[in-house]
Amino acid sequence: MPEAWDIVVVGAGPAGSTLAARLAARGWSVLLLDQARFPRRKICGEYFGPGCLPLLEEIGAAAEVLRRAHRSLGIRAVSPGGVEFSAAYRQAEPAFSLPREELDSILLERARRQPPVTVREGLRVEAPVVEDGVACGVVARQGGGKPVVLRARVVVGADGRNSVLARRLGLFRWNGGHRRFSVGLHWEDVNPASAYGEIYAGRGLYGILNQQGHGRANLSIVCGQERVGIWKGNLENGLKALMNELPRLRDRLEGARPAERVHALGPLAHEAVRPGAPGVLLVGDAAKFYDPFTGEGVYMALLDARLAARTIEAALRQGGLTQELLRRHARRRNQQLGLRYAVQSLIQRILACPRSADVVARLLAGQEGLAERLLEFLGGARHRPWNKAGAA
Ligand SMILES: Cc1cc2nc3c(=O)[nH]c(=O)nc-3n(C[C@H](O)[C@H](O)[C@H](O)COP(=O)(O)OP(=O)(O)OC[C@H]3O[C@@H](n4cnc5c(N)ncnc54)[C@H](O)[C@@H]3O)c2cc1C
Repeated sequence: MPEAWDIVVVGAGPAGSTLAARLAARGWSVLLLDQARFPRRKICGEYFGPGCLPLLEEIGAAAEVLRRAHRSLGIRAVSPGGVEFSAAYRQAEPAFSLPREELDSILLERARRQPPVTVREGLRVEAPVVEDGVACGVVARQGGGKPVVLRARVVVGADGRNSVLARRLGLFRWNGGHRRFSVGLHWEDVNPASAYGEIYAGRGLYGILNQQGHGRANLSIVCGQERVGIWKGNLENGLKALMNELPRLRDRLEGARPAERVHALGPLAHEAVRPGAPGVLLVGDAAKFYDPFTGEGVYMALLDARLAARTIEAALRQGGLTQELLRRHARRRNQQLGLRYAVQSLIQRILACPRSADVVARLLAGQEGLAERLLEFLGGARHRPWNKAGAA
């Protein structure tokens, strides 16, 4: 094992594991760390659009993911006023659902099998090591053990929504204009009804029910901070109250059984003021997360990891991750993901006004092909790899 690596990647979620696999396939030595031991849980709606598969194919993980996944044909949605519409994907790659324990473990194993990647689980990073203004490693600790310094030429923060690297570098900020919280759990004995993801929008909240096969389904309800008080101390009662605000969803789950305790998370929206600092690049949720409504988080993390691989290779060849490279990366990231964040924000503005949500739902229900085009955009179905031949 080398004393120092080309890259240390903090966080082995979809962003970190796929980035590690890509960089190692190009011959760079990578240390991939996670505070958790896999398989580990991750709060998520577990709905993944068709655009994920070509990106997973680039690292050789698509076939296994697809073998285990439950396929979804499209989305059915109900607006606050009860207007219904549905949209199906028209292209070959399917949308799918898979528990995050499984998806993330497949991706971590894919990275682990790609030399020269070294994987360390159960290792919590506490801070970056910064010398002369440039990050050159991390301080990490296993359980209650002594802190160790791990050195690398480039440090990657793929450490998700609570990114310790973004916080320690002073880059982290909450999105004060969009303070949303989620509650959720898996259900059993859910009537399969259809092979569509289901969205139930209400007044200031929405629920997403995502079937996973064999009567199992994932439910997430997302609402504003003003409702958090109702579940304080008793998440089960809080969930009941929220479901009473979404009667179609409540009725849909008649006869189904909770498969676990209810969990809650929030606030959800945050971002880094810049996607990195000299020597450090932030990737996936560590760089930004807005809202789970469109189910694009993992797709965007995979896209971001591919973009980051390019920037990091340039940094390693040119002698470091400089401010100039970071500025270029920020521009490219904005070109690639900026429109997605803008559409997410527009959808949230529409949902904030139930009447507008009903009008838009009527438009989507009435105009043939419009809902399909929106769904395909959100799911990345029209995505074309920037470098299919170089599939690393
Ligand atoms: C309620 C909710 C529902 C969602 N539903 C969907 C959905 O249906 N579809 C979808 O595509 N996306 C969804 N998302 C978004 C999606 O979960 C994220 O966008 C995605 O997980 C981002 O991947 P990542 O690799 O950047 O981060 P993560 O998956 O969060 O991985 C970060 C990793 O870093 C590790 N880590 C953290 N801190 C440290 C540390 N200090 N030291 C070492 N390791 C550390 C963690 O253990 C973790 O394994 C949802 C999000 C929420 C909140």
